[in-house]
Amino acid sequence: MRWEELTGDQFPQAVEKAQGVCLLPLSCIERHGHHLPLNTDLLIAREVCRRAAELEPAVIYPDFFYTQILEARHTPGCIGLEPDLFLRLLEAVCREIARNGLKKIVLVNGHGGNDSLIYFFAQCQLASRRDYVVYVPPPPYHLQEAESGPIWETTVDGHAGERETSLILAIRPDLVDHAALPADGEGNPLGRLKPLRDLGISTGIWWYADHPTHYCGDGRPATAEKGERWLTVASQALARVIRAVKEDKETQRLQDEFFAKMERP
Ligand SMILES: [Zn+2]
Repeated sequence: MRWEELTGDQFPQAVEKAQGVCLLPLSCIERHGHHLPLNTDLLIAREVCRRAAELEPAVIYPDFFYTQILEARHTPGCIGLEPDLFLRLLEAVCREIARNGLKKIVLVNGHGGNDSLIYFFAQCQLASRRDYVVYVPPPPYHLQEAESGPIWETTVDGHAGERETSLILAIRPDLVDHAALPADGEGNPLGRLKPLRDLGISTGIWWYADHPTHYCGDGRPATAEKGERWLTVASQALARVIRAVKEDKETQRLQDEFFAKMERP
């Protein structure tokens, strides 16, 4: 059930049918190599949510792509807001979702650049009392090979490579520019900060150091069939998350207990 496609009259019934669960797909508008559209992460996150909600009813929040993507601001078409602004926006959106009766919010992250953000945001939920819970399941792209099956032929695949290209071929094949796929190894990491990376030392510029054209992997072996298989497994995994969230009563109870003690330590 897509939030914005419901009528106002249908909305309360949808909240009931979803048992208060709202999926909030997070994505960004970012370069994906030469051949995939800027909204690649949005298309994937939305499609996984759509399929999961068909298996286990949930309301899906409208497209939300204002997240952490500062590392792509040197590329054409990127929309990267200031960090304090997108954090406040996400907080405000969660409050609006809850005010509309959906008290269980599941962040479905479609963009690797948000990996740290989503856990930080979850921790920020303890800053002040609230009558809703933000759940952070593992992002769909962290699906283990064991779950998705041995689909992939390439070993390096981090961005606009075999997996994301297969997914867009399954979801919106008309948006894939096959002719633009490089064959010169452009998707291999440049390793410009390798001495630091080998010691586990991170800096904000690490992604640019390895992948300045926002291409990591090789999209050439991608097929729509592979994408279809992955989408099936990813949406089943998310449906299991929705079920577990519906059954959960303990998290809100513990939050209430915590906030009561926090206000009068
Ligand atoms: Zn992506």
